[in-house]
Amino acid sequence: MRFRIDSNWFYDRVRDWKLGEIILKDKELILMFTKEIEDENINKVISWDMNMFTMDGFGDEIGVVKKSIRELYRIHITYHNKRRKVQKMLNKNPKQARRLLKKINKREKDKVRDFIYKFTTELAREFSDYIHVFEDLNKEVMYNRSKKHNRSIALHNWRRIVEVLKYKVKVIEVDPKFTTKTCSRCGSLDTIIRNGTVICKECGLKINRQLNAAINIYLKGKGLKRTVQVWNKLIKPRLKMWGVGVPPNGAKSNDMPPMNPEGVEDDVAQGEVGQIWVTLSKFVQLPQTP
Ligand SMILES: [Zn+2]
Repeated sequence: MRFRIDSNWFYDRVRDWKLGEIILKDKELILMFTKEIEDENINKVISWDMNMFTMDGFGDEIGVVKKSIRELYRIHITYHNKRRKVQKMLNKNPKQARRLLKKINKREKDKVRDFIYKFTTELAREFSDYIHVFEDLNKEVMYNRSKKHNRSIALHNWRRIVEVLKYKVKVIEVDPKFTTKTCSRCGSLDTIIRNGTVICKECGLKINRQLNAAINIYLKGKGLKRTVQVWNKLIKPRLKMWGVGVPPNGAKSNDMPPMNPEGVEDDVAQGEVGQIWVTLSKFVQLPQTP
């Protein structure tokens, strides 16, 4: 079958758009059209750290965002189990088994693709006026040579999400070097990661690992250096805005950070650990302000 785009009903709507990806489904053919959007309206930045179950974001105005991609993992597990069952009958009935495997693989691929299209559409709608910053996932492989199967599947999905999102919003990719390990507050590499928390030996920050990475990606995307001043001015207020402060030691929940109720101070004593808890979980603990 062959058809002309310029004689079709939708042509006027996409006249000066660029033809993007073409997707062939069982009963549908999807043509994607893209158009460069004027940049002047898009000046807000949101960064995303990709994880197995979540995408952890940090953005202008909104601060911390978390989006679940657990569904992708669930799809892979489901079809992995189905495959294993069929593989058991490979010896007995190889022809049928192979046919079934092919079917299972295709279904898995379709489910993943459908999820990613839906997910990215929602993301693009919610953050349409943002520039989205990701780690360059091709370079990511250079720094992280983990051969774990789960990880390579996740990496494949992450790449796909970024690829598809590029058709819908403005995306920039930054060097992923040390985004997890670097303290997003003072830029030190002298950190330890324990139970999902990054602890900076230099400035005393304790912060959720994914959030730290998202902030690092955000600052890279903005072209900003990691300094305590930048952190206090740009990052800290947005964390607070987000937060129900939950101080440790069972003290009462409070919107204000318990040790520093007046808010922002530019100079922070080094080495002392204060108690500023930004979200319901143990998200961030800042060094105490004198
Ligand atoms: Zn630090």
